[in-house]
Amino acid sequence: MESPFNMQMIDTLKKVFGFQDFRPNQEAIIKNVLEKKDVFAVMPTGGGKSLCYQLPARMVKGVTVVISPLISLMKDQVDAALENGLTAAFINSSLKPHEMSGVYRGMKNHELELLYIAPERFAMHGFLETLKEIPVALFAIDEAHCISEWGHDFRPDYLSLSNITKTFPDIPVAAFTATATTRVQNDIISKLGLRAPFIVRASFNRGNLFYRVESKRGLETQLLEYLCAHPGEPGIIYRTTRDSVSDLADTLSAHGIKALPYHAGLTQEERKANQEAFNRDEVNIIVATIAFGMGIDKSNVRFVIHADLPKNIEGYYQETGRAGRDGEPADCILFFGRGDIPKIRYFIDRIADERERSIALEKLRQTVKYASHNVCRRRQLLEYFGERYKDENCKTCDICTGTVKMVDITIDAQIVMSAISRTDQRFGAGHIIDIVTGADTKRIRGFQHDKIKTYGAGRHKDKNHWRFIVDELLAQDVINQDGDRYPVLKITEKGRGILFGNEKISALKREETKKKRHARAGSEFEPFDEVLFKSLRTLRKKLADEQKVPPYVIFSDRTLHEMCRYYPAALTDMVKISGVGDAKLERYGADFTEMIRAYLDENPGITVPEAPSFVASARPVVKKARGETFEKTYELFVKGLSTGQISKARNLAESTITGHIEQLIMDGRDIEIGRLVDAEKRDKIGNLFLTLQSWELNPVIDHFKGTVSYDEAKFVRAYMRRK
Ligand code: ADP
Ligand code: ZN
Repeated sequence: MESPFNMQMIDTLKKVFGFQDFRPNQEAIIKNVLEKKDVFAVMPTGGGKSLCYQLPARMVKGVTVVISPLISLMKDQVDAALENGLTAAFINSSLKPHEMSGVYRGMKNHELELLYIAPERFAMHGFLETLKEIPVALFAIDEAHCISEWGHDFRPDYLSLSNITKTFPDIPVAAFTATATTRVQNDIISKLGLRAPFIVRASFNRGNLFYRVESKRGLETQLLEYLCAHPGEPGIIYRTTRDSVSDLADTLSAHGIKALPYHAGLTQEERKANQEAFNRDEVNIIVATIAFGMGIDKSNVRFVIHADLPKNIEGYYQETGRAGRDGEPADCILFFGRGDIPKIRYFIDRIADERERSIALEKLRQTVKYASHNVCRRRQLLEYFGERYKDENCKTCDICTGTVKMVDITIDAQIVMSAISRTDQRFGAGHIIDIVTGADTKRIRGFQHDKIKTYGAGRHKDKNHWRFIVDELLAQDVINQDGDRYPVLKITEKGRGILFGNEKISALKREETKKKRHARAGSEFEPFDEVLFKSLRTLRKKLADEQKVPPYVIFSDRTLHEMCRYYPAALTDMVKISGVGDAKLERYGADFTEMIRAYLDENPGITVPEAPSFVASARPVVKKARGETFEKTYELFVKGLSTGQISKARNLAESTITGHIEQLIMDGRDIEIGRLVDAEKRDKIGNLFLTLQSWELNPVIDHFKGTVSYDEAKFVRAYMRRK
């Protein structure tokens, strides 16, 4: 579709966001929005929904109002937009009146491109009238399924959003969600009153996620093994109960792997602090119940592990969806043990409503099937959502990549069933396996099960093998599990055919392969320099702390990985990296190129590869390099502006400005230090640096117990070290 917007859209995509191409559906959505049509879009997590309204926000005249349900996320969303050089603000109950009027003033003066608002404000009397006074260009509704009672996150506040189309008949409304059945979709469209909307239902396939199921043997060891193989990578481990969450977090920490717990039993402050620490890369691992996740926009989650069986596939898909939002490879691992089934059944059996109970049971059956059938996991997930997956081999699940072979297991099946039969079908899997492997337990001696013929008949193979056989027999309906609290194994009709008749049974057995790190995802993901990545990640963390934003807001993992493939050591190269828009190039380009240059100097053996052609098509560097931006700050400072005023005037974070000034002082420029730190304080701080004989800031801050700020300490330090 040729459109007058084409050129400008691509231009904005490159300059503001630093991306080369649109993701699927983004372009069509944006075009419709620009043509003032309503939009309804279902896109999976990580599909790039925010770009669909942030890019128009730059192109249109007026404010793009974004309705977003989580106050906790709003600040991060605004920070992310600001980092890209967009002008953005939010209004919610956390703002003071004067801050609020500042935001309104900005809008009326056409200074604001994006405004984030919580839905409850729309329920307030007269709010829509207030909005009428500002030039709104577009309403974007995030998590739109919250308006539907049929969805799983219904929020009554969302209902008041139905007044938007009535009050603003000429302004387009774009609604986005990551989950919507057709029923929810129709409900959203009618509740919002969307006018013949352009509808997008994107594929739910997340190509960068690798799905794998491992049988649960020794969970702790298995987890530690995985975590040790992926040091420094952020990930979520889901568990079912609060106790198991706390225990696992403690165990991991005891093994030197820092992990924080998250569950509804913690106080709100604890939960907030732990989530924040995870969000800011201060702790890599969060162990959580499914209470964790709604407020998570973190894009660099590299794995999601389910240490227990999830209750249903919807939940599993949602939770695993939090991995790899940045599009880089990420793992989704499910540790599956049959022992988890009765635990879930215990709760299901207590559901009073019969219909509800049978739905819950059916859902459980589907997760068990997902975990135990040898069918491509991706195909199974997508088919659950009614989507047909066309490829024979997805290349990114354990089934499709594992070396699987068909083996005859008739004899082993007979051994297991014989043990079941000779103990009158009154025992569970654990005990049956003990009999087969000839274990010497109190229980076996007590029941005299060491006397039966099958005792020890399978001792030539280990327990894991027999667990696999039992799982397989259950999955193939050869035996079943009966009883909720203490499930016992029983032989089915089909089983009798194998035990007493001539029926055969075979199973697909996966050869245990040593998992290589880069074997995680498909071939389109290239390796990168992991040593450099570590350094760049540390630099990102430092800059993020200075700006008080989460690290992924500075650069995503995808962007850092690309730097670690092409080693951009000059700004003209840096501009070619995906995710480096003009604003970020100006703010961080120099820091990152400097580090990469130093790394290349230290490692002369590295050959810098030619960037592929799509990278080479990047725009020229239009922004001034470090020098110019420093000069601008200098000019304004000399004119008498405070750091706060310069930050406003230049639309840059105050920490960026104080960073400039620190450098200017060091360079020996004429900066009047008295305007930054008063004389008495300067002496105190200076003397302490001399006593401590170190330029570290933290000891100084600690010493003065909050009476000296980081900036003050930094300025004094710079002054002492100036040329
Ligand atoms: P969603 O809200 O749909 O879960 P986001 O808007 O958070 O997804 O986007 C997920 C990630 O994808 C972000 O890191 C974003 O910067 C990145 N992204 C979005 N659009 C593009 C694009 N066209 N090219 C490359 N990366 C993109
Ligand atoms: Zn597959």
